[in-house]
Amino acid sequence: MHVESTRTLLLTQGYEPIQIISWQRAVTLLALEKVEVVEEYETEIRAPSIIVRVPAVVRLRKTFRRHAKPVKFSRVNIYARDNHRCQYCGMKCTIDELTYDHVIPRSAGGKTTWENIVSACYACNRRKANRTPAQAGMKLLSTPARPTWMPSVQIRVSTRSVPDAWRDYVYWTGEIDSEEGGVD
Ligand SMILES: [Zn+2]
Repeated sequence: MHVESTRTLLLTQGYEPIQIISWQRAVTLLALEKVEVVEEYETEIRAPSIIVRVPAVVRLRKTFRRHAKPVKFSRVNIYARDNHRCQYCGMKCTIDELTYDHVIPRSAGGKTTWENIVSACYACNRRKANRTPAQAGMKLLSTPARPTWMPSVQIRVSTRSVPDAWRDYVYWTGEIDSEEGGVD
């Protein structure tokens, strides 16, 4: 195991996986008494005065207020809202294969908002070009809207890449957020 790139799974107080963080951040949160260790890796970190095991799974000591902030308008959250599917052809895509599309083109006064932006694959985005879906003869899978929930699904983690220590905590979701930050 390459310790430098080792990741730690962060759980809410209710054992719900919310983020993948670096182990260094997990150790910092531990030192700040914001989290407690649930599972450890075999690997030890040797600092001059202490030897600790790398935390594999940590749990927040306080309630995580998932709904405290409105969902950030960002590319990754648009993809999450759309379940990483092109909203025209329905193809399931990786983040690299997706772009975003203005439903009403900007040239026709379309705004960059939750209601006018959808995930699209590059082929559909090119095909639609500067036209409305009707003009392009393309149909949207769903009407875009601002999500009222925090999309907890941001990056798909394949079961193969999940460390053994995480399995008890991620099996039932299979998908977890991998952005850092947000836990203050
Ligand atoms: Zn498409």
